[in-house]
This record gives sequence, structure tokens and C-alpha cells, in this order.
Amino acid sequence: MNFEQKKAILDKIKEYDRILLFRHLRIDGDCVGSTKGLKALIKATWPEKEVYIIDNEESSYLSFMGPDDEEIPDEMYAEALGIVLDTGNTKRISNQKFTLCKELVKIDHHIPLDNYGDHAWVEEERSSTCEMVVNFYDTFKDELVMTREAAQYLYTGMVTDSGRFRFRSVSGDTMRYAGLLLDQDIDTDVLYANLYLEHYGYLKFKAEMYKRMKITENGVAYLYISKTLREKHDISLEAASAAISLLDSIRGCLCWMAFIETGDEEESIRVRLRSRFVHINQLAEQYRGGGHACASGATVYNRREVRALLKQADALVKEYKETHEGWL
Ligand code: AMP
Repeated sequence: MNFEQKKAILDKIKEYDRILLFRHLRIDGDCVGSTKGLKALIKATWPEKEVYIIDNEESSYLSFMGPDDEEIPDEMYAEALGIVLDTGNTKRISNQKFTLCKELVKIDHHIPLDNYGDHAWVEEERSSTCEMVVNFYDTFKDELVMTREAAQYLYTGMVTDSGRFRFRSVSGDTMRYAGLLLDQDIDTDVLYANLYLEHYGYLKFKAEMYKRMKITENGVAYLYISKTLREKHDISLEAASAAISLLDSIRGCLCWMAFIETGDEEESIRVRLRSRFVHINQLAEQYRGGGHACASGATVYNRREVRALLKQADALVKEYKETHEGWL
């Protein structure tokens, strides 16, 4: 599928001596795994090429994946091929110097909000961008070199973005590619320890979140996490944002959201939206966001917008329940 796009990207990678890899803001396992995984693949295949990832966004839960590269002079961008992974629109690219690159490639599995790039390869149905990178490797395996290091990064992204291979987007391909990576003898014990172990204080924070969670009339579960509450538990914004997962298995709640006060100058509130069956990306788009059908993000600025968003989500769930059977 999409052989021509992939071939064009391979040709570009071959053509350039210097390649810069870009990802989205608020890093996750997939954008880190796909950039680091692709870098490892390129370096193993063509050791003489220069490949840089210049981002270095702090993330405690992903710190085990290691640091990125140091900043390079702007002139060096001008001669480089830029490859943006896992990012639906240019505004979300973390290193905005991508504009300095000579040519730009987009590889992504999000619903496109923006058709950027001189060459784009987008497959919305893929469970992760890492899965696409493995597909890329598999398509050109006679020419590319897979390593244990690359496999470890790519597997991490596949595991995290697919909800541990649980989401609907997981296909036969996902499992075949996961198998291909496991054949590289990656260390899943260390990976899962890094993903699951929690500090005692965070468990206390979770306990308070469970007490505070609420449900709207028709089944939208939500949490509001103020800056004060975060400070009380000494929890980072990122750790607080992870609380969305506490709401993901409530019977009858087809949609769930976490509102997290960021504490920035504009007093913005990060919204994480998730759902089962019901599509919520268009709702997120109405609140400065977007994403996938059942996993989106948005930003609101006050309690009035929080209430309005909850009201609209409640109406979506109501309509879904009235017009469908078999939901859980
Ligand atoms: P999050 O809850 O922030 O992890 O977001 C869930 C999904 O929606 C991720 O795949 C994000 O890439 C995407 N997303 C989050 N925020 C935005 C935004 N402002 N615009 C477009 N997509 C977003």
C-alpha cells in the first residue's frame, strides 16, 4: 500500500547526507520511538549520513528512551532533508526550525489537519507511526538494516500508542510487525518496568483522583486537575495529564476527559479527550484541538468553556446511545 510514496521517501533519504527528524509537542512514546527508531535504521544502513533529532523536551516517563541531539547551527538545516513523524499539522511540530530544511517529508497516522511536506505518506488506519516505520523497513528490507536498538525504540512506540495492543486500530500487520521487532531480541522486561512502575506519592494522587472523578448525565466521565491540586501532591503537569487513563474503563461512560490547568501565563487548560465508539475529534477541533476519532486533545481557557465542552460531549454520547445498540 502507498508504495510510490514510500519509494519517494526512500529515494530522498538516499539523496541527502544530512537528515533532521522532527516530532510533535508534548512528546509521547510514538513520536519519540518513531524518530529515534528511524534514526537508528538510517544510521545502521548508512553510517556516514548525519542524522539529528533536535527537540529535548523534558519527559520523566520517557526519560528511559534517552536524550536527543544538541542544537546545530541554522545553516546546517538549510542543506538538510527534514522528516516530520507522527504530527498532523505544522503548528504542533516541536522544533519550528523545520521550515529551514531544504525539503520536507511527512510520515504520519493522524487524521491530516494540514497537508504539509514536499512528500507525504499518511495512513490514518495505522495504530502508530512506529508501525509505519516498521512497514517502511519491511517494504525495503533488502536495502535497510534493522538493529536491536531500532527495534527497541519502535516497539516502545507501538506498545504505547496502541494501548498495549488493545485499540481498534491494531491489525494483523501490527502484530506481524511487533513479531518482527521481537525477533530482534528486545528487552520487554525493562520496557514494561519503565512504563508501569510508579512512585508511592503518585498512587496517593491517583487515589484522590478516583475520589474526585465525576460523570455527566449521559455518561461522560471527567476530572478537573487544578494547579493547586497538582502542587499539593508535587505532581508534574505530565504526570497529572496521565490521569486520563484512570477513567478509561467505566461501564456506560463512552467518553472521558481530563482537564489539567497548565499554570502557564494564559491560564490555559489542557484537555485530553478519549472515547469508546463515539467519535470526538470534531468536538476537539471546536476547542483549538484535534487528533484521532477516539483520542484527541484540545485547549480551553476557563470554567465556562469546560462546562460547554462537557455539555457537547454529553449530547454526543446521548445521541450515540439513543441510536446504537451493543455499547458498553
Ligand atoms: P493527547 O490527549 O494530548 O495525548 O492527544 C491525543 C491525540 O490527539 C494525540 O494523538 C495528539 O497528537 C492529538 N492532539 C492533541 N492535541 C492536539 C491539537 N491541539 N491539535 C491536533 N491534534 C492534537
